[in-house]
Amino acid sequence: MVSFYLGIDFGTSGARAIVIDADSTIRANINYAFSSSTSQPWVRIWQDALYSLLEQIPLAIRQEIEAIAINGTSATVLLCDEKGNPLDDAILYNDGRGIEVLNKVKAIAPAEHPVLSATSSLAKLFWWYEKPIYSQAKYFLHQADWLAFLLHGNLGISDYHNALKLGYDVQNLCYPQWLTQLPIYPLLPEVLPPGTPINSVTPEIAHRFNLRKDCRVCTGTTDSIAAFLASGANQPGEAVTSLGSTLVLKLLSHTHIEDAKSGIYSHRLGNLWLTGGASNTGGAVLRHFFSDEALDRFSRQIDGTKPSVLEYYPLLKKGERFPVNDPELLPKLDPRPDDPVDFLHGLLESIARLEALGYQRLQALGATPLFKVYSAGGGAKNETWRVIRERLLKVRVVCSLNREAAYGSALLAKGGSFGIVGKNVYIDTK
Ligand code: ADP
Repeated sequence: MVSFYLGIDFGTSGARAIVIDADSTIRANINYAFSSSTSQPWVRIWQDALYSLLEQIPLAIRQEIEAIAINGTSATVLLCDEKGNPLDDAILYNDGRGIEVLNKVKAIAPAEHPVLSATSSLAKLFWWYEKPIYSQAKYFLHQADWLAFLLHGNLGISDYHNALKLGYDVQNLCYPQWLTQLPIYPLLPEVLPPGTPINSVTPEIAHRFNLRKDCRVCTGTTDSIAAFLASGANQPGEAVTSLGSTLVLKLLSHTHIEDAKSGIYSHRLGNLWLTGGASNTGGAVLRHFFSDEALDRFSRQIDGTKPSVLEYYPLLKKGERFPVNDPELLPKLDPRPDDPVDFLHGLLESIARLEALGYQRLQALGATPLFKVYSAGGGAKNETWRVIRERLLKVRVVCSLNREAAYGSALLAKGGSFGIVGKNVYIDTK
């Protein structure tokens, strides 16, 4: 009998389902774009997307799915009644309304905790706490928790990736005392390791979508961690650099490190830690000066083995957190040579220098030394940049094996219950 595993990614502009087999080979890959013209609430759009993705998986595969895991965007949250019905539309990952109550969060959370941001899950819950609707609330859930609930029917369960920005203590695997004494505490979900089987799909869901009655639904994760799991990085010292609009570094480490001022924190991955930071430099600056076609053409004319003498700090506006923490830092983009190829060489080299500095910073704080970097995001395909980065990082730089978060969630569904993700052994389920 063949076994299949389903990962579903809820991203910013759409959702995707990927089914893998026991060898982690992709057997189905389905995309669902969220409509931008609809006035429907997000919760309705996501529910439709979830059911539509399930329906589109070929029946022969769907009937043999053993386990499902879902990832959502980090800090996208819902307030629900006792039956799991959302009382209000979801608050999205980047919604900054929590600024109104940030002082109240500051009054109770330890200094420089990841919850001390206007977009943290906890700030969003504090915002709801002051609204009349709160009196009917029974559960506070993340997007991934609620979508999984639609399949397995159990309320009040989350994972320790989604729960980090809620204030869950991932080192001691409990809610800290400063949270447990608050009136919002009864609404908080129980937190389990990502990939833990919660329950089988409900009989209604099994019947409606022709799923196995014993198909397991597991706890999920966040989109960026799912993308890390998909990359192939699985040893301490291996890292994933995301070369998207911004530059995001993630280094797998034996040690937990934290420097909230610089936006550095660690997610738990079983017995290991996923340390990381995000810089404001990155592809958005490249896109400001070059089309994707020009980036490709000019990059081919650069000899990446030779250093550029141009030293920039490529930013679109003032302010940086990582690897340099300075809200007043100004972009440095001159001198600008006449030849666009030389200018691009300077930009690629400067971003790579910041990438190297970022990994040095993580290591200086105690993270496991870097030995291999996987690349993800729009800049990962740039071979010239890879050569430049390899020269500056002084370790091997390769492309991620797979860049889809849904693939990472499928690995979580496959391996979570056995403590194994692909060849990784870092997701323990104890
Ligand atoms: P996002 O973070 O917005 O999801 P993507 O991962 O889609 O970003 O990557 C888009 C970025 O990739 C753009 O900012 C663009 O400048 C950059 N990019 C596209 N093609 C190249 C290329 N050949 N070399 C370097 N960067 C590129």
